[in-house]
Amino acid sequence: MEKQSQKKPVSILGIPFENTNQEQFESLLKQRIDHHKNTFVVTANPEIVMYARQNRPYETLIKRADYIIADGIGIIIGAKLLKDPLQERIAGYDLFVSLLEWGSQNHKSAYFVGAKTEVINKLREVVAQKYAGLKIAGTHNGYFGDDRNIINDIRRTQPDMIFVATGYPKQEEFIDKNRQTTDGLWMGIGGSFDVLTGTVKRAPGSWQKMHLEWLYRVVKEPSRISRLSVLPKYLIAVLKERLSGN
Ligand code: UDP
Repeated sequence: MEKQSQKKPVSILGIPFENTNQEQFESLLKQRIDHHKNTFVVTANPEIVMYARQNRPYETLIKRADYIIADGIGIIIGAKLLKDPLQERIAGYDLFVSLLEWGSQNHKSAYFVGAKTEVINKLREVVAQKYAGLKIAGTHNGYFGDDRNIINDIRRTQPDMIFVATGYPKQEEFIDKNRQTTDGLWMGIGGSFDVLTGTVKRAPGSWQKMHLEWLYRVVKEPSRISRLSVLPKYLIAVLKERLSGN
């Protein structure tokens, strides 16, 4: 089985992004899950790229992932600026929902780690109702210090898919540290449990089409505005990379 999707990865500020599309990538993941291949997927946006630049251990860690995918229009723009375009943005949330649907149809099992207690409890209900064929191997909220109980539970239940939604860098650190305990899919998916449970609303389709999901989130949660300050810095760094021809 091939590890990489067909085209070679696109490097943005030293981070290699899979040059694939959602359909192709999904089918690759499903094959790997069926074969119990240990798979770590990072869904990265410009914030993650810039964080990795400041934090070398985190950069090294995400480079150990099997796949880094472009979850953010900023990554697509960055690749274009570097004249090495990526096929499309693949939203971690879309991938998550598709895998739940497939998992339900194919009687797979999944473990969910992340979000506040009330959100993860609601997630259990939503998944049981909407994806009835999927076995919930277990759930845990995302506010833990010691991860030993969670890991023992994952080791015991051997789920096909482990979704970690604690935000970066915690989710990638957790996966990198613990992925050897179960040969399944391990994926970090930020605030996806909040969205699936309706705790946080995702941008309407028209905003998504205009690639303005990030703006919608800031309008809804103004406290996120400071996180946008990274975007101009990211674009400047990409332009510098383009000029230096690295
Ligand atoms: N969260 C968590 N544990 C923490 C901090 C955050 O489980 O220690 C959850 C939080 O409740 C929310 C998600 O992680 O559901 C963060 O979502 P966000 O979209 O902000 O992710 P990011 O953009 O940081 O990847």
